[in-house]
Amino acid sequence: MKGIYPDSVRETANGSVMMANLGDRDALIATDKTLGFAGKAVGDRLECELTHENAVALRAAFAFTAPVRVLTRERTLGVGDRLGIATPGHIRAFRAFPGVSPVFAQQSIRELTLTNRTFDDVLDAASFSVFREGFTEGFGADGDHLKTPKEVDYALNCGYTMITLDCSEHIRSGVTDENCAALYEPEPELEKLYLDRTFEVGEGVRVSFDERAFRKTALVYADAVRFAARIYHEKIASPSGDRADFEMSIDETATPTTPAEHFFVASELDRLGVHAASVAPRFCGEFQKGIDYIGDLSQFEEELKAHAAIARRFGYKLSIHSGSDKFSVFPLIGKETRGRFHVKTAGTNWLQAVLLIAERDPKLYREVHAFALKSFPEARKYYHVTTDLAKVPDLSDLSDAQLPKLFEQNDARQLIHITYGLILNEPRLRERLYAAWRRDADALDALVATHIERHMKALLEG
Ligand SMILES: [Zn+2]
Repeated sequence: MKGIYPDSVRETANGSVMMANLGDRDALIATDKTLGFAGKAVGDRLECELTHENAVALRAAFAFTAPVRVLTRERTLGVGDRLGIATPGHIRAFRAFPGVSPVFAQQSIRELTLTNRTFDDVLDAASFSVFREGFTEGFGADGDHLKTPKEVDYALNCGYTMITLDCSEHIRSGVTDENCAALYEPEPELEKLYLDRTFEVGEGVRVSFDERAFRKTALVYADAVRFAARIYHEKIASPSGDRADFEMSIDETATPTTPAEHFFVASELDRLGVHAASVAPRFCGEFQKGIDYIGDLSQFEEELKAHAAIARRFGYKLSIHSGSDKFSVFPLIGKETRGRFHVKTAGTNWLQAVLLIAERDPKLYREVHAFALKSFPEARKYYHVTTDLAKVPDLSDLSDAQLPKLFEQNDARQLIHITYGLILNEPRLRERLYAAWRRDADALDALVATHIERHMKALLEG
C-alpha cells in the first residue's frame, strides 16, 4: 500500500521525518533539512533513498534507531534476518511480548558471505525498520560467531553492540579418556587451581576434577579461554566500560560441554578478568537448524539445571544457539534460567518467507524447491544437519494446495533452511522472491510474527 507509514512520523526541531512506501521501494521523507539526509528535493521536502549514508544520519537524529546493549536485560532473543525484510514482523512479536528484548541485527560472517551482505547492510535494514514501525524500546546488534580479531573489529567499527566470539578453532578436538595423559603438557597454574578439587557451584550442583577430568578439560578448553580473554581485553574492555556485550561461544564443537567443563570455562573467564554477558555451551542432544530438539529430554533438563546454576553463579546469561523451532525445550530453558536467557534464532524467518511463497505463488515455490534440491549437496558443507532427502515428498505428487504442508516436515524444512544462500544468489529467483515478499508484505509480517510469538510463548511458559 503506497503512502506514509503512520508509525514512522517524527516531529523534529525544524520539521519532520517519516518513511513512505513509494510502491517499488520505501524512502525517507524529510522536511527537516538540517539532519544530514541526502536525497532529491520534491516540493518542500527531501525524498531520501534507504542508503547507508541516510541510515547513519537516521541513527544520529533518532537514538532509538541505533543499537544498544540489551544483554543486561532479563530475556533477550536474537532474531537474525537474512533477508533484510523480517524486522517489521519481528517487531510485531516483540510488541506482543514486551518482557522479551530483541537483537534484530544478528548475522555471522558465514551468513554475510552466503547472502553477499555486509554488517552495515544488516544493521541499516534493522534501523530503517525500527524507524518505520516506531519501535522505541531499543534493540541489540550482534556480530555473531566472529572468529578473529579482524572480524571483531569489523563488527565493532560498524557499531555492533554485541560480540559473539566463536572460540571453536581454539577448542581441541579428539581428546579422549585414553589419549589425554599422553597429550597433556603441564599447566602448573591450572593444576594448582583445579586438580583434585571439588567445587560447590550452589543449588546442589557440584563439579570435581580428578586427574583425568582435569587434563581433558585443560587440553580442550584452556586455549579457548585464553583466546577469549585476549580478545576481550584487547577489543571489548575499556576504562569507561565494555564497548559491547561480550559472549563466548563454545557451541560449535564435536562434543557437548559437560557442566564441569562449563564451570572451568566460567571460572577461568572470571579469574582472567573477563566480564561475559553470556556464554553459549554446546548442549547435549542436537540443535539442528529449523527443527525441534533431537535428544533425551530428561538428560537435557538435568544438564541445563547445572549449566544455568553455573551461569548464575558467575553472573552471566546462558545463551542458546540454533534456537529456531526448539519448542520442546523452550519451557525448560525459561524455567531453569529463571527467565534470564539469551536465545538465538536465525533462519526461521526465511522459512516463513518461503512458506508465504508456497501459499501465494506455487509456481515460484516449485522452482525454488527444485533449485534447493540441486543445491543441497553444496549447502550441506556449511551446516550440520541429518536431512534425508528421500523423505522429502516428490513435488509432482503434490497439488498446489498441499505445498505449504511441506513446512511441517523436518527434511523439507531443512532442505529450504540451509540452501538460502544459493537460492538468494540466483538472480532470477532472488528478484521474483523479493517482489513477491514486497507485494504481500503484510502477510509476510504476520507469518514471521506468529512464528516468533510461538517461540516467546514457550520460553515464558517455564
Ligand atoms: Zn552457535
